[in-house]
Amino acid sequence: MLSKKARQIKEYVAGEQINFGYIKLNSNENPYPPSKAVLKAVKKAQRLNYYPSPKSDELRKALGQLYDINPDNIFIGNGSDEVLGLAYITFFNPKEKDIVFPDVTYSFYPVWAELYDINYRTIPVREDFTINADDYLNLENCQGIILANPNAPTSLELGKQDMEKIIQANQDKVIIIDEAYVDFGDYSCLDLTKKYNNVLVVRTFSKSWSLAGIRCGFAFGSLELINGLNKIRDCFNSYSLDRVAEAAATAAVKDYKSVLKRVAKIIYTRDRFIKALRELGWIALESKTNFVFASKPGADAKSIMLKLKESKILVRHFNLPRINNYLRITVGTNEQMDKLLKELQKI
Ligand code: PMP
Repeated sequence: MLSKKARQIKEYVAGEQINFGYIKLNSNENPYPPSKAVLKAVKKAQRLNYYPSPKSDELRKALGQLYDINPDNIFIGNGSDEVLGLAYITFFNPKEKDIVFPDVTYSFYPVWAELYDINYRTIPVREDFTINADDYLNLENCQGIILANPNAPTSLELGKQDMEKIIQANQDKVIIIDEAYVDFGDYSCLDLTKKYNNVLVVRTFSKSWSLAGIRCGFAFGSLELINGLNKIRDCFNSYSLDRVAEAAATAAVKDYKSVLKRVAKIIYTRDRFIKALRELGWIALESKTNFVFASKPGADAKSIMLKLKESKILVRHFNLPRINNYLRITVGTNEQMDKLLKELQKI
């Protein structure tokens, strides 16, 4: 009954979504709910008997004002996963040159490549999980680059000069910069989308914006890139974003101050948690995200993850080369992290 592709492909496995009775630190969601203005907008969403705006005009207008970008240079999708998936078909050719990305990065990148028969290869990050920009300067047999910045699950950020060096050296291909965690880091490449017409910056409402439940992502890029995405979206699903999600996201954009407040709280908790974890003898990387990538020398990460689950705390473990003794721990509230630290001490 299934196509060859459906039979053979190894799908992306998302974090376990158990929503009640657990401290949920396994999917990098925001522990704080969105502001009252957002909830009010959801209640007031109207005209649900009519299809929504295909390109989510209200949301693009609001985002354009917030980031000082022409709304025509903004694309909206049903979560940044959808934006990324559409970007693969829009910018990369099947069975031709490779696309490249680091060996330790978002594990969905190889899945879209497999889905669309796009050849890919990975470039190893250094021993300390940092990306070496020089590895991306003379790429042969390559049609595109994807970099999550800050990277996941490492939580590390590549410096802006290094990023621009990579972009300058690769003017003949599309470079996708996945900024899912950018609000917890030091800088964005948004301005580089105005300078370089081959750079697509992809963002999400799922992390800093406290809106993983509505599925909304967006991208900034040149007219050529954004028009290409619009065309492919219209070949797939003309109405990516529903009216309720558009109302919620638009209200969130108009109430950006409250987003910044929650981001500041998370950064404070993150840095406090990293310090405490290191005092317990853990290795914890310098996070520029809303999660911490950490390992306890001499202990087995998977067993710790399973023990924490017994104590009703969910964290993420990846059974992948190079990182199978690390845990990716989302930063929750101070209280949640204190509870986690207590459990870790017991273990
Ligand atoms: N990019 C990265 C690096 C991520 O970690 C995630 C979250 N799993 C996404 C994109 C997708 O986020 P969403 O589809 O919720 O916008």
